[in-house]
Amino acid sequence: MQEYGMIIGGRSVAASEHFAVTNPSTGTVVGYAPNASEADLDATVKAAGGAFPAWAATDDAERQAACEAVTAKLADHAEELAQLLTAEQGKPLNGLGSRFEMGGAQAWAGHTAGLSLPVKVLQDNEEGRVELHRKPLGVVGSITPWNWPVMIAIWHIVPALRTGNTVVIKPSPYTPLSTLRAVEVMNEALPAGVLNAVASDDRLANIGAAMAAHPDIRKIVFTGSCATGEKIMASAAATMKRLTLEMGGNDAAIVLPDCDPQAIAEGLFWGAFINNGQTCASMKRLYVHDDIHDAVCEALVEFAKDVPMGDGFDDDAALGPVNNQAQFDKVSRLVADAATRGRVLVGGAPGEGLFYPVTIVADLPADAPLVVEEQFGPALPVLRYSDLNEAIDAANASENGLGGSVWSNDVAKARAVAARMECGSVWINKHGAIQPNAPFGGVKRSGLGVEFGEEGLAEYTDIQTVLS
Ligand code: NAD
Repeated sequence: MQEYGMIIGGRSVAASEHFAVTNPSTGTVVGYAPNASEADLDATVKAAGGAFPAWAATDDAERQAACEAVTAKLADHAEELAQLLTAEQGKPLNGLGSRFEMGGAQAWAGHTAGLSLPVKVLQDNEEGRVELHRKPLGVVGSITPWNWPVMIAIWHIVPALRTGNTVVIKPSPYTPLSTLRAVEVMNEALPAGVLNAVASDDRLANIGAAMAAHPDIRKIVFTGSCATGEKIMASAAATMKRLTLEMGGNDAAIVLPDCDPQAIAEGLFWGAFINNGQTCASMKRLYVHDDIHDAVCEALVEFAKDVPMGDGFDDDAALGPVNNQAQFDKVSRLVADAATRGRVLVGGAPGEGLFYPVTIVADLPADAPLVVEEQFGPALPVLRYSDLNEAIDAANASENGLGGSVWSNDVAKARAVAARMECGSVWINKHGAIQPNAPFGGVKRSGLGVEFGEEGLAEYTDIQTVLS
């Protein structure tokens, strides 16, 4: 079984320890990831720091071309990386699974390569000239989760490189291999040291925490849980690191009474259950008007019954297993509790191994843990409402504010409801449909800053104003 190396200074470097990465569908070992030590991290940050001055000084058009070449490398290796993703993450190869994720990675890399932040002239008159320049920060530390590991790595890496920073990425211990391999192939198109990767098993040495405190890392871009994001923010204070924190969500969807339940069932289903609900901005609470509540529940259950779940390598599987035991246990706990308080419409009990069937629960009280906590798995609470103001208040009664959606045949009415929702992105008649030109980020405890588009790119720079 293959032992993967760290990628430091443009080459694969063996670690002295490794940890096993297993396939969540079968429990079999996929490969061994390097378990970086703090000394390994120091060496990696040093390599990235050494590469920074030349990369920052590279002509903008040349950096754009390099990011386009990185995109081409991802395309060349898309199938190999999709296979590795399915093996370690569990998601199906087909449908909205690994091949879809690799398509997203290329779309984001390509779009971001084409963005730029030219000098802005703020004033140019007889009193003087004022220019706003965007300067790269230095070494950017990227810390990623296990749900969409390659796509999220690309969200972090490409804007950082495009703006002249160098990168050290540390993927989740559950899904490190696809990121290590992606970084290796991207290195074929980059100068040595510009893009580096380490991995670690958090139970042995928390290299993510060491990155957040590292004096020579200038920024952390983090995607993961609220609890970890808060720790990163605290330890970044001493070195005044720049931060982009994309954290948890508990997205609400509000369905207005004018919807046709049959027509919206498919969109609602995939809005909630894409990647088995293991998606930051998937629908996690569904508020449906009393007039159509039962019909929407029925249509959702009917749709759910036809969605095949299985080993990600099975061509027919549309949903795979939950990625890891801790997440599986969380979903099991939330659903077991929900079953005592509400009405389970489909699913409701764990399956074999890490497979948890699609579960929909109605008639839950507002304070049920399945409503209040982010389940991050294949379990959706459907909540009945009759007063729209109360539904909006309930949707906003969350400490999170990542995404939200409104469903209606009357788009103007839906927009008016959308404007009252406390979240960073709000969709109308769809949910979670992120795109590379639309800035994405959370409000309230869901995070800090945005990714994507020019606004996301700017987060990898400091402003310098030049006044003459
Ligand atoms: P997690 O916070 O457990 O882990 C994320 C990463 O942080 C991993 O690489 C982990 O090794 C690292 N880490 C662990 N402890 C650390 C520490 N003390 N300091 C620094 N890094 C540390 O999250 P997860 O379980 O991998 O991901 C699931 C969560 O991510 C969910 O809450 C989900 O909503 C969120 N998420 C958010 C977005 C978004 O864009 N907002 C996208 C995907 C996932």
